Amino acid sequence: MKAPSLLGNARLPRWLLPADWPQHDGAPVLAHIALEAGRVQSVRPASTDDAALPANGWDLAGTLVLPGFVDAHTHLDKAFTLPRMKEVQPGLLGAIDAMLNDRVHWSASDVHKRASRGLQWAWECGTTHVRTHVDWWEPDTVPLAWPVMAELAEEWAGRVRLEQVSLIKLPLFEDAAQAMRLARQVKATGPHALLGGFVHSTNWSENALRNLLVSAQACDLDVDLHVDEELNPSAVGLQTTARILREIGFEGRVVCGHICALAAQPEAQAFATLDAVARAPITVVSLPATNLLLQDAVTGRTPRLRGITLVKEARDRGIPLLFASDNVQDPFCRLGSFDPVEALGTAALVAQLDEPFDNWSQALCRGDWLQRAPATTPPTLVGAKADLVLFTQADRHGWPSRSATRVVLREGRVTHGDAAPFLLR
Ligand SMILES: [Zn+2]
Repeated sequence: MKAPSLLGNARLPRWLLPADWPQHDGAPVLAHIALEAGRVQSVRPASTDDAALPANGWDLAGTLVLPGFVDAHTHLDKAFTLPRMKEVQPGLLGAIDAMLNDRVHWSASDVHKRASRGLQWAWECGTTHVRTHVDWWEPDTVPLAWPVMAELAEEWAGRVRLEQVSLIKLPLFEDAAQAMRLARQVKATGPHALLGGFVHSTNWSENALRNLLVSAQACDLDVDLHVDEELNPSAVGLQTTARILREIGFEGRVVCGHICALAAQPEAQAFATLDAVARAPITVVSLPATNLLLQDAVTGRTPRLRGITLVKEARDRGIPLLFASDNVQDPFCRLGSFDPVEALGTAALVAQLDEPFDNWSQALCRGDWLQRAPATTPPTLVGAKADLVLFTQADRHGWPSRSATRVVLREGRVTHGDAAPFLLR
């Protein structure tokens, strides 16, 4: 199929349109998106006295359109391991045990095969940027999945941008010299690698966290942490991270994933922490599906607490916030599809999000929020690659319900889905 020169009558989300974009009945009017050489050339409001759309244009007739997705937090190394496991104890620590027992099955080709399947699913749903964590167990041995991810980053270059994070438990940073060795190994992997750690009240050490952040700073690395993935109100990983970043004048970006404990803390304490986070170079990533499954998990008992962090309060403070897939078909989460829209659908219910399409869909699309210098100007499609996702069966009231059927464009060309209904006759 020929690449279209115009996507006529597209419905874009409010966050992606300029403040002076015309409205009709309280909603943004439809947009004409002009494409050229695989990029978006212009976006302008459709109007009733428009001339007919050009012959090689499409009429989207109000179809919802989003830019390609960023899936900011996944575990490609563990994906699809659940089917070969026997019994898994409930909760986060039970899942970690099951994962340790599965390690006997891991080889480079096993990891490559499972992770490739995940990347294929990500590519099909419209994702352009995936960040994966990789379990890193030993202080002096690079895990076998680590170089496999670096290979996959090259294999998928130009289709899916893949970043990899070393998921290292905090005690391995207790010794400053060892922390620096770990950071150097990560740095040597390339610019798509980040230093990461698992920060939890069961392994808490402020000294180790400081060593992690100081060694990242010394090696000019960005950081991505699993922080306070628990409902223990005394977990202080997030507030301490924000304080240390200020003390050492950290210049990179730090992603803090999960931070469920905020929801269990007294509001005054949680809000003071979020105020400090808003002043720090921190992006929050919420993983609603795994947190629903792993928090307050006891066999045979209905969970009462839901583990979602304070996403509305974070956003009210201007903290960059993304939703992501996390675990897919492994002992941490038996569901999942490497489709971040599914994560947002879960969040919309568990966190009672208002207007998921117009307000919250940016939490799937703002890849700049993972970068050192997130955009300071309002986001725009103009000038960007025409990597777009068209939701052919959904409407803005119910989205992301009925969002499974999609047309995915990469650099203006269809790579997935049926665009025939859009062709002008
Ligand atoms: Zn995770």
